[in-house]
Amino acid sequence: MSAAADLAATARAEAPNGSSRRPAILAVDDEPAVLAAVARDLRRGFGERFRILRAGSGADALEILRESRARGDQVAMLIADQRMPGMPGTEYLVEARKVVPDAKRVLLTAYADTDAAIAAINDVALDYYLLKPWDPPEEQLFPVVEDLLTTWESGAALEAGGVRIVGHRFSKESHDLRDFLVRNRVPARWLDVERDGEARELLQVAGLDADRLPVVLLEDGSVLERPTVLELAERLGVAGTPAQEHYDLVVVGGGPAGLAAAVYGASEGLKTIMVEREAPGGQAGQSSRIENYLGFPAGLSGSDLARRATDQARRLGAELLTVQEAVALRVEGSARLIELSGGEVLSASCVLVASGVSYRQLDTPGFPELTGAGVYYGAAMTEARACADQHIVVIGGANSAGQAAVYFSGYAATVTMLVRGQSLEASMSHYLIEQIAELENVDVRTGTSATAAEQHDGHLSQVRIAGPAGAEETLAADACFVFIGASPRTDWLEGVLARDERGFILAGRDVQTAGWPLEREPFVLETTVPGVFVAGDVRARSIKRVASAVGEGSMAVSLIHEYLLEA
Ligand SMILES: Cc1cc2nc3c(=O)[nH]c(=O)nc-3n(C[C@H](O)[C@H](O)[C@H](O)COP(=O)(O)OP(=O)(O)OC[C@H]3O[C@@H](n4cnc5c(N)ncnc54)[C@H](O)[C@@H]3O)c2cc1C
Repeated sequence: MSAAADLAATARAEAPNGSSRRPAILAVDDEPAVLAAVARDLRRGFGERFRILRAGSGADALEILRESRARGDQVAMLIADQRMPGMPGTEYLVEARKVVPDAKRVLLTAYADTDAAIAAINDVALDYYLLKPWDPPEEQLFPVVEDLLTTWESGAALEAGGVRIVGHRFSKESHDLRDFLVRNRVPARWLDVERDGEARELLQVAGLDADRLPVVLLEDGSVLERPTVLELAERLGVAGTPAQEHYDLVVVGGGPAGLAAAVYGASEGLKTIMVEREAPGGQAGQSSRIENYLGFPAGLSGSDLARRATDQARRLGAELLTVQEAVALRVEGSARLIELSGGEVLSASCVLVASGVSYRQLDTPGFPELTGAGVYYGAAMTEARACADQHIVVIGGANSAGQAAVYFSGYAATVTMLVRGQSLEASMSHYLIEQIAELENVDVRTGTSATAAEQHDGHLSQVRIAGPAGAEETLAADACFVFIGASPRTDWLEGVLARDERGFILAGRDVQTAGWPLEREPFVLETTVPGVFVAGDVRARSIKRVASAVGEGSMAVSLIHEYLLEA
């Protein structure tokens, strides 16, 4: 038996119920006394739910991880000391990430190593650094570890989940259903009919025709053949129904601005309902790593932010309606009415439009036809796993494209970025440019644009490009992710609210010359219709950031309080 296997066996023997099925937390430290103390505290706090494994060096720990993976065991968290001879903690975590990319990564550091830990945040995609000593564990260790494990568990539960969806990887319908399930956090398992024997067996047992994919098998045994997203949402009870006749506040859009308004509105006693067309989180929910949101030094993923904010809004009493789109706004006396795509009408005293912006679509030949079949708009998180060892093209030169390239580089064989401008400097944050420069499998082609997308068997196979001197070339591509900017979708407000020439909604001092009807001055975020407010990216002159959207969403609630007092 290898040293690593020996350690793993010891660890299993140490586990309270001896089960080898519980996910593991692996702690590494070269100092036996510190390792024993970490393991003791972890066992005390988490031993019921997790196996606690130990290793005395990075090399031993990597062996344990490879063996765990070979056995199909889950690893939830890696905790590593920074100062270890041979292989420092950061170097070990970089290697460990390749074996167990989903495990949460925590670095144990002495105060003197804090700078090294902060510098390592990007290289390691570190989730947390913990200062030694961590006494008392109830305050310094358990809350942090619990938070990270809960986040890990919610991701693992989603993948192991009860709903099964069988389809072709490169079908738009399959992609839309998967995207919906992932973004709405419905536990579901994806089975690719071409790659998974289980998928074919399931179809056979259920007597289903492989021509009628995608198929969704629900936990109650029912089978939905080629359902629409709305049909699936209704069957799963995800969509929700309004509980009140009249609300103080209807929020349109569930991105950071809408979620913040739902949290503040509900917590400050307003009867609040939020309507979201797709899934809570908005654009931010699709970001693989938000690095500049205050208070999260190691960054956080957009889906994590969306999950936390959605739970918070619900806990504070806001109602959430998803997969429902606001299609019209009407004014009837003091009531503001929002018509929904399903035909329902919500009545409110105030409305907050927080509908953000949507990705601009590429109309280059081949791209419209292959959307969802190898061409994706901001679908980075859903598709990343399926991109293992593949050739990926990312189009765009701004931060969203940069984040996607960094994220995919951890899964794909190669990532080629097509950037129309002559350099990244003009369009991308410095920290991302530096990260991309460090990645060996990312190739940045500046002065280059896509001229066509070509397909084989109905899915993308190559992208034709024109380089700086106009020279044409063809790149093999398994998937192409397009990030070429975004614009607001506010046509439904035409003739009701004043907008600028690009469709962004005017507010505050801008509405005074655009048809503001009252003598009093409009509130800062108030539109041309009194009592209808706007926040976040959809507002004209807004700053396109998560923090500013959150700030405006919460600020809108206090303005709404003032409006209601005056009304
Ligand atoms: C890939 C990516 C990475 C990013 N990374 C960062 C980052 O690291 N840091 C940072 O600060 N910012 C980042 N941003 C920008 C940031 O995400 C946005 O500024 C922020 O999400 C804006 O929030 P919002 O609530 O105004 O709008 P959005 O996030 O756009 O949300 C609007 C929501 O409204 C819904 N909606 C639209 N119309 C309707 C309707 N008629 N009815 C019902 N619902 C509707 C949409 O489905 C959407 O969910 C990133 C953006 C992207 C795309």
